Amino acid sequence: MTTRPTPEFLDAPFFPKGMTTPDPECPINGGYFAAAADGRLVVQRCTDCGARQYPPELNCHACYGFNMEWQDAAGTGKVWSWVEVVHPAHPALREFGPYMVALIELDDMPEIKLMSAVVDAPLDGQVLIGAPVRVVFERTADDLVQPRWRMA
Ligand SMILES: [Zn+2]
Repeated sequence: MTTRPTPEFLDAPFFPKGMTTPDPECPINGGYFAAAADGRLVVQRCTDCGARQYPPELNCHACYGFNMEWQDAAGTGKVWSWVEVVHPAHPALREFGPYMVALIELDDMPEIKLMSAVVDAPLDGQVLIGAPVRVVFERTADDLVQPRWRMA
């Protein structure tokens, strides 16, 4: 049995109030947010063909089957690509930033790349491709926890 590391929850929200948030009761994404509330990062896995995918969808991108389940990911990855957001479009972010949004390749599922904010990215002009990162969890509403990432 593999022991899962203790999940890390941010002490304070990373993003300011007023951001648009997803619906934790969404029939497609709900399991993703329920796992995040439990401190777990999950991706969808097709029980017909075994393909994994992110973001969650109604059906499998590989075989088009509808039998999807949730599979835990280790929660570690590497920066595959990134951008420094200097002029955010959302009004709630007018006085916020700059901050990093990265495409993160999961260590244990390299076919999966997730897009997320990296909450403690240095933003000093260094090339961060390949830098190790790990998942953290941010409570963004009373009923919603969203995975974010930080430098490992
Ligand atoms: Zn499939």
